[in-house]
Amino acid sequence: MTTSLYIDGEWAQAPATAIPTHDPATEEVIEQVGSADSAAVDAAVAAARSALSDPAWAGLLPAQRAALLFRLADLITEHHEELAALETRDQGQPIGISRMVSAGGAAEHFRYYAGWVTKIQGSVNPVSFPSTLHYTRKEPVGVTALITPWNFPLMILAWKLAPALATGNTVVIKPSEVTPLTSIRLVRLCEEAGFPRGVVNLVTGGGDVGAMLSEHMGVDHLSYTGSTAVGKLIATASAASNLKRLTLELGGKAPSIICADADVDAAVAGNISGSMLNSGQVCAAYTRFYVHSSRHDEFVEKMAAGIAGLPVGSGSEESTVVGPLVSAKHLEHVERLVASGSEQGAQLVTGGGRVDRRGYFFEPTLFTGVRDEMSIMTEEVFGPVHAVTSFDDADGLGGVIAAANNTPYGLAASVWTNDIATSQRLADGIKAGAVFVNMPPVPDAAAPWGGYKQSGWGREMGPQAIDAYTETKAVWLHYGG
Ligand code: NAD
Repeated sequence: MTTSLYIDGEWAQAPATAIPTHDPATEEVIEQVGSADSAAVDAAVAAARSALSDPAWAGLLPAQRAALLFRLADLITEHHEELAALETRDQGQPIGISRMVSAGGAAEHFRYYAGWVTKIQGSVNPVSFPSTLHYTRKEPVGVTALITPWNFPLMILAWKLAPALATGNTVVIKPSEVTPLTSIRLVRLCEEAGFPRGVVNLVTGGGDVGAMLSEHMGVDHLSYTGSTAVGKLIATASAASNLKRLTLELGGKAPSIICADADVDAAVAGNISGSMLNSGQVCAAYTRFYVHSSRHDEFVEKMAAGIAGLPVGSGSEESTVVGPLVSAKHLEHVERLVASGSEQGAQLVTGGGRVDRRGYFFEPTLFTGVRDEMSIMTEEVFGPVHAVTSFDDADGLGGVIAAANNTPYGLAASVWTNDIATSQRLADGIKAGAVFVNMPPVPDAAAPWGGYKQSGWGREMGPQAIDAYTETKAVWLHYGG
């Protein structure tokens, strides 16, 4: 069994149930990873609490803290190929994605936030009191729990860990039990980078371990990425315990609007990137396609041919564009939703079933004739499934904006047009944390990421993450009569 607990600078075996992690391309068990029990979770939180005020961490000058983050970024770069290969094995990602988005994106995040450490500022404020100096300072929020999902385990951990450490917090990491391996490896690199003991702690296991953290009185802030259903459980647990601050990055059901004037070939290429990245296992993946009626048939024909022609294979093969889904359980979820599409009257144009080979592969699938109330339009599929319908803008863009917003989610959206006014009207009307005009959904360390409505609370990345991981203290100093 893999040694998977890292508490107060010591590695230990997890005492409770071992959970197998699989190679999704072969279905083979890669390793068994144990689960933390409540004593291990308590110990990890206590270690993080104690490190928070330890001069070895709290006493570091900003430039010294920045140097640790830069060192970690360099170590990720040194181990780039190893991390990418491990992510592909555990998650199934095509190796090109693991290299560029996962290993490359993680290093980029640590560099970006290392740059912030020496630039985190408060303000001096013009309060209306005589002889009073008023200023604010940003302080670490405290012990931060980081709970991550299985779709981009390394990159999403970096989204959280980099700003948490940059702002002087201490952390307890809980990776997804489905894909824990790159998180364990990253924590070993944190150790090598020289973060003082107790600053970075790791507990492995499933939802029960996540629940222990969300209920814990010793956790000050929790950053979670995963399903909306679990996000609600975490919000309830926070409210019932110590009102720990929450950053929640939840589900999505991104619309993509292809306007009458769009360059259809460019739209097809961009939408394939936007929908098929990591086999559609992306929270911002384009899933609901609203195509202007004058371009609908052309778009459907080209999109269906495009996705059907993508090379499907193991993520470890360089030529693969579509890898497997992450697990047998997730494959069943995608199959169930695709079956509901046909049952509810959508027309299947391409795909629709498992790929006839070992591994959790599902065919790139496209439906037309969908209606807003169908399950494939309302539920998060998180797979290579496209639901296409048409719209008419004879009376303006209000109808398609209303349809795009007809979802409890609001993470991302996409617009395809060469008309600036149309793009801005759609960007104004769509309720989503990010609107991508003529491009697929890309993350960037400098760009805030997060959702409207039930896609979450708060923002990660960009300068906004500095706010998420700090408290603002206002200091009032009266200095005269
Ligand atoms: P999930 O909700 O099943 O699990 C996510 C994490 O939560 C795992 O570590 C899991 O062990 C833990 N967990 C499960 N139950 C818990 C509980 N009761 N309390 C605390 N933690 C618990 O999500 P998933 O299936 O791993 O990931 C897919 C979901 O993540 C999709 O809904 C997707 O949209 C979302 N996602 C969102 C973003 C974003 O940025 N908004 C990014 C990636 C994925």
